[in-house]
This record gives sequence, C-alpha cells and structure tokens, in this order.
Amino acid sequence: QAAAAPKPPTLIFAVANQKGGVGKTTTAVNLAASLATAEHRTLLVDCDPQGNASSGVGVRPRSVEVSIYDVLIGRVTLPQATIHTDVPLLDVVPATQDLVAAELELVDAPDRATRLRDAIRPHVGDYAFVVLDCPPSLGLLTLNALTAATRVVVPLQCEYYALEGLTHLMATIDRVRNVFNPELTIEGIVLTMYDGRTSLTHQVADEVKGHFRVFNAIIPRNVRLSEAPSHGKPALLYDVQSKGAQGYLSLAREILETHHGAPKRGRTKATKA
Ligand code: ADP
Ligand code: MG
Repeated sequence: QAAAAPKPPTLIFAVANQKGGVGKTTTAVNLAASLATAEHRTLLVDCDPQGNASSGVGVRPRSVEVSIYDVLIGRVTLPQATIHTDVPLLDVVPATQDLVAAELELVDAPDRATRLRDAIRPHVGDYAFVVLDCPPSLGLLTLNALTAATRVVVPLQCEYYALEGLTHLMATIDRVRNVFNPELTIEGIVLTMYDGRTSLTHQVADEVKGHFRVFNAIIPRNVRLSEAPSHGKPALLYDVQSKGAQGYLSLAREILETHHGAPKRGRTKATKA
C-alpha cells in the first residue's frame, strides 16, 4: 500500500480591507464554511470587536465566556477559546466588544504585532485552513492578522474609490512583509456584491485585473447572503442553492484547486490496485 501523501501545511487567510461594508465578514464566514463543507478542517477566527463573524456562525454574543481577546492578552490558549459550530469541521474563536480594549492594552507591548501569530501558529496544525476576519481599519488588530497570516484575501466592491483603498492596503501588506512576515502573499481579490449590469463595475473589475490576481469566482449581490447572518448560519446552511452560497462554494473550490490539487468531494475515489 502506498504511503499517505504528506499533509499540506495549514494555510492562514486574513480577509482584509480597511473599508467597512465591502463583504469581509460575509467572505470570511462563507469561505470558511465552504472549505469545511469540502471536508477540510477549518478554523474561523473573529478579529473584529463587532463580532459579526461569530454571530454569523451561530455564536450568541452573550454566551461567549472566552474570546480572542483572552487569547491575545495571554489569559487562555487558542484551543481554550475554540467552539464547534453547526457546520461539520468548522470551529470558531469568537470576538466580543472586549476586543476594543486590546488595541489600547497592547499598545506598549514589545510583541504587540506578533501576539496573534504566536498564539495561533502552535495550535492550528490539525486544521487545513484558518480564516481571520479583520476589522475595517489598518490598526493593531489588522496588523496582527496580517502578521499571523500566510495569505491575504481581499474582498472588493466594484465602486469608484475601490482602487484608492486598495493602494493603502497593499502598502500596509508590503510593510508587514518587510518587518514581520516575509512569506505573506496575496491570495487574490474577490469581487463582492457584484452587479454586472453597470458599466462602472466592469471598468473597476478590468482595472483591478490589470494589477492583481482576481479570483474567477465572483460573488453577486444576493439577498440570501445578507439574510443568513440573522439566522446565525452561513449561506450554505440557509439556502445552498442561492447564487451567494454558490459563489462562495466556487471561491473555495478555486482555492482548493490551487493548494490541494482538487477538492476532496467530487474527486473520483481512488480505486485499489
Ligand atoms: P465588512 O465585514 O467588510 O464590513 P460585511 O460582510 O459585514 O462587510 O457586509 C456588509 C453588509 O453587506 C452586510 O449587511 C452583509 O450582509 C451585506 N452583504 C455582504 N455581501 C453581500 C452580497 N454579496 N450581497 C448582498 N449583501 C451582502
Ligand atoms: Mg466585518
């Protein structure tokens, strides 16, 4: 019998864009759920004090006893803050409002930028993927996420000022790469809330494609994606047939094809020799 193929290293995706409302949390939740549904153990880490990624996978804010805040200040380990979700193979480390304080409490700590990396990396070997949902700023929490990550996924809404914001984000990523995390690469730009009926959308999309790797999978504007969080479910548990859920399943498939050759589900079973 052939030896099992070596396990690929854990990929840690930071979902980042300093603009609010561009689809970061929606992307983090639905990408993580889609990767887990393709039978890859995945950990979603909520790095935004708003806690929307946590509630998006069904964690009630008032039920949270330990969160990413406690991990960052060293009170608990990552596994102690990890909760199973209703999606098989998907776990979450939730965030609460407490996390606002971390920015202030860590400001004088010499290791303030590497706290998340040091807390995460020793504990995620059994996960194929970790997805970090970043807050809408380039502050200390996003800095920690970019330092902890191996790749950046950038959700982008095709609107007039989108490219300007992207320039700031890319400069930040360059700085993080130079100082803390030389291996950090950009996995790709995912076009979100896409409305192919407007010419501005096409103009912006074409321009972005000229500069960056843009995923083939496009996330359409879809009401199911905005409804699902109020049910505490990723879209694929709320309405798997919806265009939004299907968009994120395609994004996950594209990422899996890049890194794992092919998604596990759908691959023909190897026959015994
Ligand atoms: P961010 O985390 O970047 O602030 P969110 O993911 O929270 O952005 O998205 C902002 C709002 O837009 C939310 O109400 C979300 O439900 C909604 N939304 C996100 N993506 C889509 C989409 N593709 N279609 C429709 N609504 C969306
Ligand atoms: Mg968000």
